[in-house]
Amino acid sequence: MKKQISILGSTGSIGRQTLDVIRSFPDRFRVRALTGHKNVAQLAQQVKEFKPELAVLTDTKSARELSQLLAGYSTRVLSGEEGLLAAAVCPGTDLLVTAVVGFAGLKPTLSAIDAGIDIALANKETLVAAGSIVTAKAAEKGVSIIPIDSEHSAIFQCLEGNNPKYLRRILLTASGGPFRNSSPEELIGVTPQEALRHPNWDMGAKITIDSASMMNKGLEVLEAHWLFNIPLSAIDVLVHPQSIVHSLVEFTDGSVLAQLGPPDMRLPILYALSYPERLPNSLAKLDLFGQELSFFPPDQVKFPCLAYAYEAGEVGGTLPAVVNAANEVAVAAFLREEIGFLTIPRVIRATMDLHQVLESPNLDDIFVADTWARQEAEGIIKAFMS
Ligand code: NAD
Ligand code: MG
Repeated sequence: MKKQISILGSTGSIGRQTLDVIRSFPDRFRVRALTGHKNVAQLAQQVKEFKPELAVLTDTKSARELSQLLAGYSTRVLSGEEGLLAAAVCPGTDLLVTAVVGFAGLKPTLSAIDAGIDIALANKETLVAAGSIVTAKAAEKGVSIIPIDSEHSAIFQCLEGNNPKYLRRILLTASGGPFRNSSPEELIGVTPQEALRHPNWDMGAKITIDSASMMNKGLEVLEAHWLFNIPLSAIDVLVHPQSIVHSLVEFTDGSVLAQLGPPDMRLPILYALSYPERLPNSLAKLDLFGQELSFFPPDQVKFPCLAYAYEAGEVGGTLPAVVNAANEVAVAAFLREEIGFLTIPRVIRATMDLHQVLESPNLDDIFVADTWARQEAEGIIKAFMS
């Protein structure tokens, strides 16, 4: 029987690579629902190739255009947030790939968990903002959350077959981004084009900027904390510029296991889709001859976002959701060239400092905190611009 897969964010970097994997295994996987935001041509082409039951564009005008393009196809077209939520719980889905970017992924992910659908999680912001709620709901519903993020896939694989009570430490690797060797002065004038040039990975714009500021690693520390139920004090970050060792785990006896592979997201995606099986495939294989592997501590002074994420995780409550929202707003402003690269951490810090943390928030509290943080961050950006 083919595994039935739905993808939220199929027009993005992870979404397209997921379809690439599915294309290579027509006997194993079938697509049920696909979603995008505005990219009519791309989603139309995906629908024609994969013939899902449901296709959604959250932008209403674009969804209307898609409907017209797909006249004669049996795929149902929906729009807006209702459409995204319908795709998340599309009947018959065995596994939902959550590959939308940002906080927009939270509601549909929770809906799918509520419906008992297993999650292949790329959308880390969901766990950052509402990790306690999402993991509790998954435990209650018996839903598996299988990581797609390469570091978390590595940890997941290293932990397999090992009793988690023997886990001592997680060593999360980071490429260090394009500015690893830049001086603090050089960071002042960085342009979006420079920040978007990641040395090892080809990803969506938001995560590429997050990688350059090292906020991506901060978000991943929080993601690991929730996925593997491990204290933040037992998660360390190692800068590993080659992106070959995707992460490591250290056990109580001091033994360390690592997972290695070429920097190609299709490998962790394939693993999440086929878990617990391992499928032979045509992806390029790792050749270690001549391959240097080096490791450095992160520079938390040059890249303060990493420390902010740790701090938010330690304080807990609504603070991680606030940091996530402020970061989303600041990154968008940087991409619009309204603020400089170094203003991103300043916007986050200022928003954190203004926040009255609410302990043990429910879902509504998280949404209120997210909305509050977006407004505050916008105000702070305006003040920086004037
Ligand atoms: P992307 O920007 O390339 O794609 C995002 C997708 O979400 C697109 O399909 C877009 O249409 C859709 N989208 C955007 N805004 C939306 C909204 N408000 N409502 C509904 N849909 C919306 O991003 P990406 O690089 O594929 O990243 C997706 C997620 O996966 C992020 O959370 C990212 O952190 C995570 N991730 C990505 C990579 C990678 O290699 N790209 C690696 C690890 C984790
Ligand atoms: Mg990652």
